[in-house]
Amino acid sequence: MPERYRMDARRAAGLCVSCGSEPTVAGRAKCERCLQEARDAAAARRARAGKLGLCDACMKRKSRKGLTRCAVCAAKYLPAQLKRERAKRTASSQGG
Ligand SMILES: [Zn+2]
Ligand SMILES: [Zn+2]
Repeated sequence: MPERYRMDARRAAGLCVSCGSEPTVAGRAKCERCLQEARDAAAARRARAGKLGLCDACMKRKSRKGLTRCAVCAAKYLPAQLKRERAKRTASSQGG
């Protein structure tokens, strides 16, 4: 069975697309356990990249000074990052 079809079937059944045995978290495609695993893996990857001075997206090129991404990945992800930063700023300026 093609992988895509299997994932669709799990999603339709309300099961985690990753392990296929646990119910999903509301609004997500994975269960809490798999989401946590993904979070842990991402955090570990970022920590390692930061220690080595590498871009945390491609893990190949050096990150730019003071940033966590290389120029290539920064350009690639810039729109999303800008949106996040703006949202953060808006949220903090509302506080006081
Ligand atoms: Zn799962
Ligand atoms: Zn990169």
